[in-house]
Amino acid sequence: MKQFQIIYKSDEDLRNKLEEIAEWRVTNTSFTTLFRIYSDDMNLEHIKHVCDILDEKMPDALYLGCTSHANILDGALAKEHIILSCTIFEYETTQVQLLQFPFSEENAREVVDELKAYCDEHPWVSSVELHATMLGMSVRDFCDEMSELRSDIQVFGGGAYNPNMDDETTVVFSKGNGFSDHGITFLLLGGSDFRVYSTLIAGWKPLTRKFRVTKAERALLYELDGEPAFDIYQRFLKITRSDNLISNTLEFPLFMDYKGVPVLRCPLGVTDDNALVMATEVPEGTDVRIAYGDPETILASIRHDGQKIANFRPEVIQTFSCAARRAFWGDENISDETTLLGSIAPTSGFYTSGEFLRMEGEMRNFNITLVLVAMREGAPKNDEIVNIHASRLDNIESEERIPLIRRFVSFIEATTKELEESSRKLEKSNRELENANKKLAYTSITDGLTGLYNRTEIERGIKSSLSIRQSADLSLIMLDIDNFKKVNDNYGHGEGDRVIIAMADVLKDALKDEDFAYSGRWGGEEFMVILQNGDANKAAEIAEKIRAKFASISYETAGPQTVSIGVAQAREGENSDSLCTRVDKALYTAKANGKNQVVRLD
Ligand code: GH3
Ligand code: MG
Ligand code: MG
Repeated sequence: MKQFQIIYKSDEDLRNKLEEIAEWRVTNTSFTTLFRIYSDDMNLEHIKHVCDILDEKMPDALYLGCTSHANILDGALAKEHIILSCTIFEYETTQVQLLQFPFSEENAREVVDELKAYCDEHPWVSSVELHATMLGMSVRDFCDEMSELRSDIQVFGGGAYNPNMDDETTVVFSKGNGFSDHGITFLLLGGSDFRVYSTLIAGWKPLTRKFRVTKAERALLYELDGEPAFDIYQRFLKITRSDNLISNTLEFPLFMDYKGVPVLRCPLGVTDDNALVMATEVPEGTDVRIAYGDPETILASIRHDGQKIANFRPEVIQTFSCAARRAFWGDENISDETTLLGSIAPTSGFYTSGEFLRMEGEMRNFNITLVLVAMREGAPKNDEIVNIHASRLDNIESEERIPLIRRFVSFIEATTKELEESSRKLEKSNRELENANKKLAYTSITDGLTGLYNRTEIERGIKSSLSIRQSADLSLIMLDIDNFKKVNDNYGHGEGDRVIIAMADVLKDALKDEDFAYSGRWGGEEFMVILQNGDANKAAEIAEKIRAKFASISYETAGPQTVSIGVAQAREGENSDSLCTRVDKALYTAKANGKNQVVRLD
């Protein structure tokens, strides 16, 4: 596999370069010749013109390409608008095929079906490189379907872009298939001597606590934790509604864990109702954090994965780097990411609107990542492996001084962790407090010995029953155990308690089928029943049952006991003091008349 890298400067220059390549092909073994063309010049006539020259000078060569945010050539950001990388395959066994389809959310599954059918018919296909127009589009169906592709096929690629962020026009093209602003091209590669190794680099660190995506629709992210999504950025980062939101949010994209793979999503804009316009959808129900782009972490991960690429000993390296990375680093520093790779093998590619990589069978769509694809034909040509660790990037890590910003980042990380921990603790203690409050509420209205309402609650009940009473009759039943002092004196306090509890049980049992009746302990061995829906007749009837039942119980040492009961029905407009006085009088009369009886006062 031989790689030539060409910058389009003029027609004459391009023709000369093509002649040089043609000469090389004559003196070397060569099979398919393939050009990848990337352009951040949106004037399609200019791109077509380059394609025409290719068709004319090298009619057998294949080509494909797309519009981009910017281009990568010789492992660095290209200053020129149109670049061509020419790959010449040196093995007869290597097979190359170009496919191009119209592409939209609606037909995504059909497109993949056709690709699948092709791959099933052609077992040689071992990798698929793709370029797609997909700005603002959901590629979820597309990715789901692509995951069904024959499991041994590697897939990688990127979304076409436009250097003007406000313009959604993007274009893909390929030889014989023309230009399409709603299209996808597949470059199918394979054969017994073709080798590919692909990987992905992110390097952004999650920073804030989790936010739940509570409202989102396709590429629009409306709400985080029920709050307009942009408000969160304003509050946490003081990012205001500026025209170039992206340059501010790039350092702080959204970070989510998608099936175990960290995925970044970058806000590109903000709507009038403070929804974030995302490059790719963030589904409802996802947990996200705001992440921070840390140059150290990014470079460290490039070193790490760069070494793996070096070990593979590739002949060509393809890069699909998110346009957001360019904005993050700035044009002065962006090449630091890729020059290292250029020292391993000719490196080219473009800045995308989204990156694709199939990982463990699953097709993924990313933002803010750098997808690296190393290719080779046959066994490695040279024994020597480039040592990435000897590169100048290594020096950064060994610098003793930790930049202030890194200290802040780790400070925030630690704080976030602690906050999350303490909010978990707070939630736990809130739950405990709630339970304690419920308990307290219960004890504040009940009597500890009998479980009946206490006096305060019964008094409150009488007052509120009187105030809400409409047509129904309201009566009180007041009870006092006879000669109770004797029980205490003769058989002990314990036996006295048992008699009180037995009285309470008789009351509970007598009232269990009454819908509007409540009983409470009025004091010592005195009790009160509120009948919210019963006249004096009904109250006297219930009272008599209670009296008889209580009298029928015989206690272990104290033997049978009796109770005296007063009954009174509330009069029109009567207040609780007056009603209580009358029922007390009825009870007093029952005592005076010889106890163990019900007296009703009208
Ligand atoms: P009468 O028939 O006139 O009602 O006579 P009595 O002895 O029942 O009346 P009195 O009001 O003099 O006695 C009530 C007694 O109840 C006095 C008090 O020591 C006792 N007592 C009050 N609360 C409790 C309690 O919770 N447990 C027990 N064992 N005794 C209690
Ligand atoms: Mg008493
Ligand atoms: Mg008594």
